[in-house]
Amino acid sequence: MPSLLTIIMYHYVRDVQGSRFPDIKGLTVEQFSAQIDYIKKYYTVVGGRELLDAIAPGGELPPRAALLTFDDGYIDHLLNVYPILDRNHLSACFFPVAKAVLEHHVLNVNKIHFVLASTTDKEKIISRIYHWLDEYRASYELPSNNDYWIRLAVAGRFDTPEIVFTKHLLQRELPTDLRDIITSLLFGEFVTSDETAFASELYMNNEQLVSLYRSGMYIGGHGYSHNWLNTLDRAEQERDIDAGLDFIKSVGDSPGGWIFSYPYGAYNDSLLSVLRDRGFNIGLTLHVGIARLDADQLLTLPRLNTNDLPKLADSSPNDWTRQVIGEGQAVLH
Ligand SMILES: [Zn+2]
Repeated sequence: MPSLLTIIMYHYVRDVQGSRFPDIKGLTVEQFSAQIDYIKKYYTVVGGRELLDAIAPGGELPPRAALLTFDDGYIDHLLNVYPILDRNHLSACFFPVAKAVLEHHVLNVNKIHFVLASTTDKEKIISRIYHWLDEYRASYELPSNNDYWIRLAVAGRFDTPEIVFTKHLLQRELPTDLRDIITSLLFGEFVTSDETAFASELYMNNEQLVSLYRSGMYIGGHGYSHNWLNTLDRAEQERDIDAGLDFIKSVGDSPGGWIFSYPYGAYNDSLLSVLRDRGFNIGLTLHVGIARLDADQLLTLPRLNTNDLPKLADSSPNDWTRQVIGEGQAVLH
């Protein structure tokens, strides 16, 4: 019985060339469309409801199943992704963040992306970060800038040391409230002072999410505040999950359980138990790999990044694809 599921994660899908943020990291619409052609050639795309049916008693996945997942509820997903999915008769899963939609709040993770994309001169950003660290060093007893740099500036899977440094420092390393303060200062300096207007352009609103849902797309949970949920105590986790669940329930229904995408991929045992308790039975992490539904814990499934698959329609199958291609019948092409 087929049990492999290739879950692919997307964030921005937009044409950034010539825009105010040419450096934003994402797929162009053409790359996305080409990757969909590639995926259609080698995989069978299933939607969120089909996945939930497949894990129910008696259910199963088709051979070479793939699930397309879109985090954070960007307007890109409605304007650029949906038309391509619709044209190809595909369904996908979308994970909007309640606070971004309901409070027109720009998530820290996005503030950091747009700060980094606002200039090709990353040194300028690092020097402003150093400036603000100097300002707050005494009151927060922070280590030296050089200590931070040596520890955090390592090249990542897809990022340069400057970008990894900025992301690590502002997403995780600094004390929580200082993270918010410095991220907002940089966002104000490099991007805009009008966060509400920026949020309204960056994310889908409630009606747009409802229209996606009514067009056959799956809307799942990504939490209320896009926090590192593994750093919260159980009561705080419950508040975030419950408020996030109320929000996605206001958009659509999910008979057979709910799918959750962990902000930053972060979870712990307490969070898994809260999710199970609230009727979530699929959880998507940032572990890199192909999910095996008969062996993996369903609440901690691995995903591939879009960059793990080719972005040319006629690419030959890469390593990740070859791992599943033996499943089911041979591919003719
Ligand atoms: Zn996210």
